[in-house]
Amino acid sequence: MVRVIMLSPPGAGKGTHSRWLTLQTGAAHISSGDLLRAEVARGSDLGREVAAYTDRGDLVPDELIFRILAPAVVAAARDTGGYVLDGFPRTMPQALRAAQFGADLALTSNAVIYLTAPEEELVSRLLDRAGRDGRADDTLSVVKHRLAVFAKETAPLVEYYRGRGILLELSTDRPELEVQADLLDWLEARGLIPAVGVSPERAGPAPGLSC
Ligand code: ADP
Repeated sequence: MVRVIMLSPPGAGKGTHSRWLTLQTGAAHISSGDLLRAEVARGSDLGREVAAYTDRGDLVPDELIFRILAPAVVAAARDTGGYVLDGFPRTMPQALRAAQFGADLALTSNAVIYLTAPEEELVSRLLDRAGRDGRADDTLSVVKHRLAVFAKETAPLVEYYRGRGILLELSTDRPELEVQADLLDWLEARGLIPAVGVSPERAGPAPGLSC
């Protein structure tokens, strides 16, 4: 079963390709951003604490992230044995703790997909999405801050996972079907999904359009 980490700057297609990959593989989709937004929508004390960070585009402290995410990962382990982690880990301390957690549960990640696109394309996609989804953090100044946070806190994970030999870097500045075909080919070549080849039926439009 695939146990994938989706690593990408905001706007590169992490959410879209994560949802598509879970449909292809049957692994559980765990989106840190969705879980955080659900907590905010619940209006709990924890949600108010979370919103203070997410509205500014700052990272939520690791302790809160683990408190919210750990139950979802444990449930994924129980239900499917696989996962697509969308938006986590996002800092080196999170990556190291996730590796320990994975080893303890025999659920170590076996692939990291690093999605890229030029910065002006990322900004334009996010501002476009703002018009549709109305996310509080999709304003120009917060988008620019989120990109800077990615460069400082999350980009170092790319070399960490490349060094572990499990990283695939994919440009999403091209048609979605090409990205999906490359992704499936790579997962097949590594024996992470059955080698049945990419057919037009397997590739297909991703559900939703958000990043
Ligand atoms: P994007 O990748 O477009 O920024 P996400 O939905 O993944 O969108 O994340 C939205 C916000 O949620 C982030 O800007 C951050 O505030 C918070 N967040 C999500 N995942 C994490 C994480 N692993 N660690 C800390 N904060 C997180």
